[in-house]
Amino acid sequence: MTSMAGVVVVGGGQAAFSVVSTLRASGYAAPVTVFAAEPHLPYQRPPLSKKAHTEPEGLRVELVPESFYRERNIDLRLGDDVVALDTAAATVVTRTGARVPYAHLVLATGARNRPLPVPGAELDGVHALRSLDDALTIGRALTTARDVVVVGGGFIGLELARVALARGARVTVVELADRLLSRAVSRELELPLRERHEHAGVRVLTGTGVRALEGPGRVDRVVTDREVLAADLVVYGIGAIPRDDLAREAGLAVDDGVVVDEQLRSVTDPRISAVGDCARHPHPHAEGLVRLESVQNAIDQGTLVGRRIAGSPASYESLPWFWSDQGDLRLQIAGLRSPADEVRLVPGDSPERLAGYAFRDGLLVAVETLNWPAEHLAARRLLERRTPVLAGDLAGTTLGALARARRAAEVRA
Ligand SMILES: Cc1cc2nc3c(=O)[nH]c(=O)nc-3n(C[C@H](O)[C@H](O)[C@H](O)COP(=O)(O)OP(=O)(O)OC[C@H]3O[C@@H](n4cnc5c(N)ncnc54)[C@H](O)[C@@H]3O)c2cc1C
Repeated sequence: MTSMAGVVVVGGGQAAFSVVSTLRASGYAAPVTVFAAEPHLPYQRPPLSKKAHTEPEGLRVELVPESFYRERNIDLRLGDDVVALDTAAATVVTRTGARVPYAHLVLATGARNRPLPVPGAELDGVHALRSLDDALTIGRALTTARDVVVVGGGFIGLELARVALARGARVTVVELADRLLSRAVSRELELPLRERHEHAGVRVLTGTGVRALEGPGRVDRVVTDREVLAADLVVYGIGAIPRDDLAREAGLAVDDGVVVDEQLRSVTDPRISAVGDCARHPHPHAEGLVRLESVQNAIDQGTLVGRRIAGSPASYESLPWFWSDQGDLRLQIAGLRSPADEVRLVPGDSPERLAGYAFRDGLLVAVETLNWPAEHLAARRLLERRTPVLAGDLAGTTLGALARARRAAEVRA
């Protein structure tokens, strides 16, 4: 009866939605069941760190209304999490003890926040941000907070810092590394980005560790390596850990994420796929396996797996791209940069625009832009087509202008 078992998806986020919507759009007719731990309809997370605090009550983040699932006969089990996989019996076990068989299983369990490993992290007034409920809690706290300390100078930390600033709080970002966004953005682009945050009024302490959070039940100060900071709200964003424990406990290969092949199938069990933040996969733009945390990756991987299960297999080759809105700064990244790549910073045609071109062996591999969406789009088009762009091609010009010149030459030819 495995043909009747259909597809079971574990996780109710961006990637899970992409899988199930693609399955039905591709004509897959067997049962589709989604187990989603959260009580909410699948929703998008990016607005949580950008908007939830300015419109905490009116925030609409769900991807589609409930009728979407009903009309497509997708069995969406909200607030019902899977606690074990029985791969021998091809069955998932839910918290209520139900055993549900699958023909194909898709793990789309996302990631959880890395906990803050210091005394006092459990005090009231200390929050991490991952879910809609977290965002609403932080949004409420921001209505009264005066001194906000953000622990971690990554994307979420910087987005939250600017949201808190816009709400009138005094904001300090405390970052252990010697610079902001050390895992994601080149040092070249980080410098102007940091200057702009400081100019807007965010105090940035890099190379600074947090030793303890203190207060009488509720946090009122943050003890760092350098000084003690007053705080009535502490938010931390110090990285995420993939939720790969179900796979590990079931004996699947796991290495900071569920290890999958180029079609996103578990390398241990081809009836199981993993997509989104929880998957570690090969990628033509990367050396070795990567795990990406982005909306683009979650959507594209879900689409690929949905199509494969419905009968159209392909390898995962989508160009990685990402954005982050930090106050008036729109940071966009196309491609995958390695720390050893050479980065050339190029000013745009107005003072707020800036791009960093990353070259590996003289070939363009990634582009970071600040407030320059047109250049980001040009980068995506060129990198997606894998048209070689050499460092010399960009001497004294921009990618947008280069792309236009190349198109004009194609038309002439
Ligand atoms: C605050 C915030 C802001 C972000 N901003 C951006 C941005 O600007 N741009 C961008 O590209 N990316 C951004 N991201 C990253 C992006 O949201 C993620 O990469 C994307 O959501 C990953 O999708 P996913 O489906 O893999 O995981 P998720 O969306 O995290 O969904 C996973 C779901 O699985 C559920 N789950 C886990 N285990 C189980 C289980 N055993 N049973 C049932 N359900 C389970 C979880 O509860 C969760 O709801 C942001 C992330 C956060 C947290």
